[in-house]
Amino acid sequence: MRKYIKNIIKFIINVIYPPKCAVCSNIIEFNIREGYLCKKCSDDIPFLKGKFCEKCGRPVEHGNLCLRCMEKSFAFDFGFSAFEYRLIKRSIARFKYKGIKKLGFYMAELMCIFLERNYPNVMNDIDIIIPVPIHSSKMKKRGFNQADIIGRFISEKYNIEYSDTVIERIKKTIPQSRLQPKEKIYNIKDAFDIKNTDIIQDKRIMIVDDIFTTGTTINECSKLLVSSGAKSVVFFTFASS
Ligand SMILES: [Zn+2]
Ligand SMILES: [Zn+2]
Repeated sequence: MRKYIKNIIKFIINVIYPPKCAVCSNIIEFNIREGYLCKKCSDDIPFLKGKFCEKCGRPVEHGNLCLRCMEKSFAFDFGFSAFEYRLIKRSIARFKYKGIKKLGFYMAELMCIFLERNYPNVMNDIDIIIPVPIHSSKMKKRGFNQADIIGRFISEKYNIEYSDTVIERIKKTIPQSRLQPKEKIYNIKDAFDIKNTDIIQDKRIMIVDDIFTTGTTINECSKLLVSSGAKSVVFFTFASS
């Protein structure tokens, strides 16, 4: 009887708040409500495809590097993202601003699928996973750091050490997406502090975050890690633009 009532409640909630796809945010059809993807996305997960830039992992048509990476030098070795930002921006907004924490686990799971398909050996060369930190004021407001949710999931899945105590965000920055490229560099300058550096000595680090845009934030974290003794840095984000 209790199970029956539980199912009815579940059904009503499903009608009022139908579950949405973790990728495209469209409502998931009734008949496949057990999963977290709509039919279209589960039939063919719309990951980034093609040839990837050797440095930042974004698709390139020719050559080994994208235009951005030809012009810039980054402190990380290389990195990659699972999706194009435009495609999943509604999901990221639901996760971050509506606080649907569960979405973070789905995103991380999708990232692991992408990883296994495209970079199957990368995790063999990672010693520690570190999330891009958020400022304590944002943490208070949001209640969680999106990068932390993703990072912990990946670390558990691959049994790799995890630390969210190495890098701290000490400056309250404006969201990078609202700024021009030059403003971004100024905005993120001196935004981070590094401590607990003993554990990163000579270690190969993977930095995890939700989005990679111009790479300024991840580059800043990478610079700090490398100058404080890390052997190498790779990044992995849910999306890039
Ligand atoms: Zn979908
Ligand atoms: Zn690139």
